Amino acid sequence: MNKISKILIGSNNKGKFKEISDLLPQSIEKISPAKMGIKSPEETGKTFLENAELKADFFCKQSKMTTIADDSGLEVSCLNGEPGILSARWADQYGGFDSAMLEILKRVRHFNSKKKIKDTNARFICALTIQWTNGKKISEQGTIEGNIISKKGKNGFGYDAIFTPKGYKKTFGEMEYNKKVLIDHRFVAFKKLEKKIKDYF
Ligand code: IMP
Repeated sequence: MNKISKILIGSNNKGKFKEISDLLPQSIEKISPAKMGIKSPEETGKTFLENAELKADFFCKQSKMTTIADDSGLEVSCLNGEPGILSARWADQYGGFDSAMLEILKRVRHFNSKKKIKDTNARFICALTIQWTNGKKISEQGTIEGNIISKKGKNGFGYDAIFTPKGYKKTFGEMEYNKKVLIDHRFVAFKKLEKKIKDYF
């Protein structure tokens, strides 16, 4: 079994790149697509898993390197799971994450007042795929449940400021980086994946 000494992290999102890098052993050299001049592929999958596999396959073939890639996003229960796999696209559509977060809060409040209920349930989901140049791939998925209540904190990235994980009082945006990355959806997916690939490290 060939140990992995170098890996391409298939993401052009800086927040995700850092989180995935920090999950991997320090001894492995991490390469970004930007460093190799590789742009992200179009995400045409219908699920997080399909998109993670599509990205891993694309970046692996482009770079000719072992690649790890994720697809992740926020699912809000009362919005029928939106923004879901369109989480990144919502930010483009609404002019950035601040506006996309305000849009989610507005829709959640509207739904709750219309239905006279309190459903703020949401979850972050991450599908993580590692693919080798011989085409072998392994995928796992991780979830963290939480609530959308208000927008607080400046830490993190993406939708962190509106997500409070269950059992915690702080949003991901208020939490320290070192605490968030030990409980989040990416960590959960990685721990499952790690069990299957630890011999390659
Ligand atoms: P994609 O996986 O490239 O399609 O992007 C996923 C989207 O969900 C991005 O817009 C991210 O900012 C957002 N997202 C994924 N994981 C997290 C997270 O841990 N915190 C906040 N936002 C996230």
